[in-house]
Amino acid sequence: MSTPTDAQRMEKIVSLCKRRGFIFQSSEIYGGLNGAWDYGPLGVELKRNLKNYWWRVMVHERDDVVGMDGAILTHPAVLKASGHVEGFSDPMVDCRTCKAHLRADQLVEKKGVKQCPNCGGKDLTEARQFNLMFETHVGASAEESSIAYLRPETAQSIFVQFKNILEMSRKKLPFGIAQIGKAFRNEINPRNFTFRSREFEQMELEYFCRPEQGMDLLEYWKEERLKFYENIGIASAKLHVLNVPDAERAFYSKGTYDIEYEFPFGRQELEGVAYRTDYDLSQHQKASGKSLEYFDEETREKFVPHVVEPSAGVDRTVLAMICEAYAEDEAPNDKGQMESRVVLRLHPRMAPIKCAIFPLLKNKEPLVAKAKEVVALLRPQMTVFYDETGAIGRRYRRQDEIGTPFGVTVDFETLGERDPALRDTVTLRDRDSMQQERVAIKDLAGRLVSRVV
Ligand code: ATP
Repeated sequence: MSTPTDAQRMEKIVSLCKRRGFIFQSSEIYGGLNGAWDYGPLGVELKRNLKNYWWRVMVHERDDVVGMDGAILTHPAVLKASGHVEGFSDPMVDCRTCKAHLRADQLVEKKGVKQCPNCGGKDLTEARQFNLMFETHVGASAEESSIAYLRPETAQSIFVQFKNILEMSRKKLPFGIAQIGKAFRNEINPRNFTFRSREFEQMELEYFCRPEQGMDLLEYWKEERLKFYENIGIASAKLHVLNVPDAERAFYSKGTYDIEYEFPFGRQELEGVAYRTDYDLSQHQKASGKSLEYFDEETREKFVPHVVEPSAGVDRTVLAMICEAYAEDEAPNDKGQMESRVVLRLHPRMAPIKCAIFPLLKNKEPLVAKAKEVVALLRPQMTVFYDETGAIGRRYRRQDEIGTPFGVTVDFETLGERDPALRDTVTLRDRDSMQQERVAIKDLAGRLVSRVV
């Protein structure tokens, strides 16, 4: 259960995200579109850092994975074969009192009686299935034959392109196909900020294997994915692995783990790692009439590969990173008095801006010129931000709040005015420890790059 402090913490996080340009309500000036979010200048950087790192670890650093980027508009036959047209639905209940549409599993129960979580009303309709897919029409006519869907997951285009990719890449089992992209679900109740949205991004890997490798690979990918979260700054103590019980797993899955994170609004799924057997490829093979078999040259066997799927949400992971990073502590102001500060302790690799550069005073031309030299030196290697306005403490504070891990100040020592030995050195401040040290400008890039890439 989340406590009032958790709710307050979440409110502060949402407000910081808006104030500092991480995440805005979509179409906000028109009252907002429920379940859709826009990422602002800092949010888009954070999101890209996450996606790039996932791609690096899951594709570039491996010999056994290739990538693809499929279309969002999907042929209805694909989603019929996958079972989505028939079965991708949630049970929905309407509250006759406040007219809310509710997911049946989110009703509250008091003394054995189901109630509307919004108004407490007990006059509820029977549950009926509500398909979560967004339907659209392709071309000028709006006939049945022109129906297409916005994909509800990226996985299906991977299965449908399996044969093409197998043939061109000449990969041997086990091997994977990775994809990052948008997915759409008409969720009955979008909520908890970006956690449950109607438009979101997924990072999915379909890792194809021989049937007898499935269960071991399920374990392997669960462990790999847990390491990934630790490498982007999510404490292992806040991650939990749920071994999804038989009754709650998809009927074709022989094993599924949910990797959950302790969000301020409760422990919730970040990623699913599922052993999906040969269900998807077999379904598409049956429905399309095209062989999706693999020929093993050594054993001379032909069979439909099995698959293990780690499927992560970009938006949920961004939200988890922000929740994990958000902290309030105390820092000295320019007069040395302690003040409360908000700090996002983002992993340097994920931080939208890696290094902020400040001339001590904006009206001293040599300081400004030197600071701009430092900007030019670091910019080719990392995202930097130049700021000359306000007291230096205030400038640090602004960067702490958006998670910038390093701050460089160009002062009179840098100009060699006091001690020639300090010429061309700057102070390098660490966001978390607030420690400052003197570093030669020529050593800066070398010091920082290994920590932020
Ligand atoms: P949930 O039970 O929370 O609805 P799910 O089990 O349906 O999620 P999957 O179909 O396994 O989710 O999708 C894989 C991942 O895609 C999820 O772990 C999550 O990170 C992300 N995801 C799914 N639905 C949403 C959504 N509505 N908003 C944001 N991310 C989502």
